[in-house]
Amino acid sequence: MSVVFDDRHPPDRALIDKCVHCGFCLPSCPTYLLWGEEMDSPRGRIYLMKGGLDGRATMSDAFVRHFDACLGCMACVTACPSGVQYSPLIEATRGQIERRYERSLADRLFRRAIFSVFPYPNRLRLALAPLFLLQSVTRRLPIPSWLSPRLRALMTLAPRVTWKSLTATLPERTPAVGAKRMTVGVLTGCVQRLVFPNVNTATVNVLAAEGCDVVAPRAQGCCGALALHAGRLDDARCFARSTIAVFERAGVDHVVVNAAGCGSSMKEYGQLLAGDPKWAERARAFSARVRDVTEMVAALGEPRAARHPLPLRVAYQDACHLAHAQGIRQAPRDVLRSIPGIELLTLPEADICCGSAGIYNLVEPDTAEQLGDRKVRLIDSVEPDIVSTANPGCTLQLRAAASRLARAWPIRHPIELLDASLRGVPLRDI
Ligand code: SF4
Ligand code: SF4
Repeated sequence: MSVVFDDRHPPDRALIDKCVHCGFCLPSCPTYLLWGEEMDSPRGRIYLMKGGLDGRATMSDAFVRHFDACLGCMACVTACPSGVQYSPLIEATRGQIERRYERSLADRLFRRAIFSVFPYPNRLRLALAPLFLLQSVTRRLPIPSWLSPRLRALMTLAPRVTWKSLTATLPERTPAVGAKRMTVGVLTGCVQRLVFPNVNTATVNVLAAEGCDVVAPRAQGCCGALALHAGRLDDARCFARSTIAVFERAGVDHVVVNAAGCGSSMKEYGQLLAGDPKWAERARAFSARVRDVTEMVAALGEPRAARHPLPLRVAYQDACHLAHAQGIRQAPRDVLRSIPGIELLTLPEADICCGSAGIYNLVEPDTAEQLGDRKVRLIDSVEPDIVSTANPGCTLQLRAAASRLARAWPIRHPIELLDASLRGVPLRDI
């Protein structure tokens, strides 16, 4: 037990005081939806933060548990009529928990392993390589029940990897087709580049076809999203500085991101580095140039490249870090609607998280599984041919839940569908 917060970046009281306790956010919160517990709602968590600042709470296991259970999905931000900015509040709270709360040894080792591998593409590549062999076993045999829930989640969520996906690279510069509209940089991501390289290829193809010179700097690393969302703020700042420097050197007009979690973090660099006099202005300018790929396509205006029909019923699942954290709902739908033949289906509970949420489905596997199964049943209720979502974590989470419930629909990023339409290829080739 200890006093909750020290004075190194505690949650901002002014932001907390904007909460008027109206409760409008409660029905949008996945953990409140599952358990109906006030302290597992946004209002309850904000109340706990205030208790921490006022010295009414202690950093007990129960206190930390309510914050560990939060998905950081930001559905509460969308729902809040008072404009409470929950994102900096939960990031600051998690930062304090990371520094001041003593987790169990097993928990510390598990988290350390995640943060030592996932944000480093070369290490992640090495970690994914043995999956060739492991997958051929685990796909035929059930995952051993004696494994801990976290290790079972790790195996269930393990992506399908191929030699091609592990070694795929993008050209460093791809010229615009026809007259150039602008030069854009592409963040290739960590999981995205190794597990879903087709999304990166589709991003480059579409942007070039729509008149952009596309630069994919080889020197880029992790954007820091996982670290930021987990409250590892010093790590996140290091990743942010190096990402800013790489794209400044590339001399691009915009930095395009096709992973919602990465995009939302990069748009937060201005806030993250606000206290660093050497970087504050560069970070603010960088964040202002970040665009989600669907946002970028929409901003380019009148499409240049011809779209071929894709006769598909598409269920689009909003990634929380796109819809709630960045407020981008229309652009991905517009991208999909620009494809002739696509019927865009309306999902029930579209605003509720699928349970992916960065590393949440690894560290909180039971809750994530409940949310994933719930989401798959809702998607299934609209009978889609294909599911589309704009974040690699959501794709992995939905795939795992769909496989548990024996649903076989493919899951693709909207930009992959647009690329297929530009190339005139059928669904089986997407
Ligand atoms: S971020 Fe998501 S899980 Fe956390 S309090 Fe807000 S709505 Fe609930
Ligand atoms: S909706 Fe906003 S103001 Fe109302 S309880 Fe939730 S966070 Fe507080």
